[in-house]
Amino acid sequence: MNPMIAFLKKQKPEWEEYLNMIEMMNAEHSDIDEDDEDTLSETAASNNTHKAYKNKIIKLKKTQNKLLHMIEDLKAELEDEQELTEDLAEALGACPECFGEDDMCSYCKGEGLPGFFVPDFTQYNRFVAPANKKFSKHYRIRN
Ligand SMILES: [Zn+2]
Repeated sequence: MNPMIAFLKKQKPEWEEYLNMIEMMNAEHSDIDEDDEDTLSETAASNNTHKAYKNKIIKLKKTQNKLLHMIEDLKAELEDEQELTEDLAEALGACPECFGEDDMCSYCKGEGLPGFFVPDFTQYNRFVAPANKKFSKHYRIRN
């Protein structure tokens, strides 16, 4: 087996179908009589096919790398959002898992609405106090 194909099979099992085709093509043409023109033209066509598969594999690898980077970025973004949600739940004294919206919640069984827990002092001053100040000012003027 071609060492590059063996390496790719190990690294990218999802490419196995393409790699098997490439292997089959390599095996079929390894014993070609180079004096036979028909065989040579078949070989040329096969080489083009082989090249096309190689190009496809390269494109797929690039796409896969882009997708892996996107997944990593999304994971990092999700972690940031989860941290922000937990901080906000602490500020509100709410369940960090469901904010009291899920009766099946293993953490609060749907009891953890805002104000259920004592709000965290730091997070309260970070999120709620400024909003409350603006809220009070805005509705005092209008009422
Ligand atoms: Zn909950």
